[in-house]
Amino acid sequence: MSGTEGLSLGQTRALWERARTVMPGGVNASARMNSALGHPLFMRRGEGAYLFDVDGNRYIDYCISHGASLLGHGHPAITAAVEQALGMGGLLAYETELQVEVAERLLALFPGMDMVRYTCSGTETTWHALRVARAYTGKYGVVKFEGHYHGVNDTVGYSHWPDLAKAGPAQRPRPVPDSAGIPPANNDLITILPFNDIETLEDSLRSQADTLAAVIMEPINYDSCGLMPTPEFLRCVRELTRELGIVLIFDEVLSGFRVRAGGALGVTCTPDMTVLGKAVGGGMPISAFMGTREIMETCTPVGPALHSGTYNAPPVLVAAIGALLDEVTRPGFYEHLKALGARLYGGMNEILARRGVKAWVQGVGARFGLLFGLDREPRNYRDVAQQDMEKMRLFHLACLRRGVYLHHVSPHHGYSIAHSMADIGETLDVMDAAIKELL
Ligand code: PMP
Repeated sequence: MSGTEGLSLGQTRALWERARTVMPGGVNASARMNSALGHPLFMRRGEGAYLFDVDGNRYIDYCISHGASLLGHGHPAITAAVEQALGMGGLLAYETELQVEVAERLLALFPGMDMVRYTCSGTETTWHALRVARAYTGKYGVVKFEGHYHGVNDTVGYSHWPDLAKAGPAQRPRPVPDSAGIPPANNDLITILPFNDIETLEDSLRSQADTLAAVIMEPINYDSCGLMPTPEFLRCVRELTRELGIVLIFDEVLSGFRVRAGGALGVTCTPDMTVLGKAVGGGMPISAFMGTREIMETCTPVGPALHSGTYNAPPVLVAAIGALLDEVTRPGFYEHLKALGARLYGGMNEILARRGVKAWVQGVGARFGLLFGLDREPRNYRDVAQQDMEKMRLFHLACLRRGVYLHHVSPHHGYSIAHSMADIGETLDVMDAAIKELL
């Protein structure tokens, strides 16, 4: 039984057969394989909160391009900005006034960040930021936290969602490469630590201070469903990295603009560098890394850390950042975004309580996780790994059949500003019916 009875997917499956002969797995990103279905979906278009697939099915979308389309699919302001910038000459791989103006506006939203360089993807920007941190400190070691994700690059492509059989003890996780092909020598440069564990953090940073260039972390760990750092842990990370000459990098590829206009934690904690992707481009493929002037001037041509690229900062994409900034700084934007979340998360909790299902809703800003089998807030990846993945799979399928798309097997879902209260209401009805079916 596929679990998709009643959902017409004939064209989708035929297209997948064709796709598999010309693209490995029939996809261009492994994350696009929908493991609940056993194949990807093929879309015709997205519009606002909706996806329309090649079979004509309509879904309310809670993947929203893995978080990139915070404004919804095809937001008119983004489209207009891109169209206007295209008129400047297509790619136009040169500096223009636009890069300067948008840099000034972007930096104003990130306290402590003095300078920026634009890049193309989240993977690329974390990799560049780490190179700069290494060049700046003259050290090579990197600390990342288990369950955090920083892209597919060979430097930090470790222990995103590691197999617990390989991951070692909870207090001293072993680095588990996320991919084959990462040189084993890289293992010596990465230290994996448990999130929210002050004792292990202090012990590890003090004992390796002479070799550590950077600590990289998601300030809100959305890649494990939206885990919050405890205030004490955050304070400890900040104070220790400062004391020991280690660059603290916040990876805000998912968390940036998700909770407020700027970094997720506001002024609560200021890192030395911040990397951005996804939402910052309003759905267009652009990313950025930022930092203090002293660190950023390590970049060529001022300093020795090579940073260049034909596709860096094309006006057509930088213009999309400008349009995103216009939208998120409009009065009421985040109040409305939060109101949508309050309705969705409140409604989900009500359904779970009414139907007597043990599951935890971890909703933070515009992204959330739903963890079956948990009845209290998870603090780290090991807590999250206790969830019932099979129940999650069945729930995703039951929602999909009823027109609500929760990307499987993603640990995080999200909505956009284009979702209406009516969409949320319809989603809750679908979730209620899906939960009833699972009981
Ligand atoms: N950092 C974080 C926190 C992410 O969530 C992601 C993508 N999910 C990345 C980096 C990598 O971004 P990209 O997929 O654009 O390479």
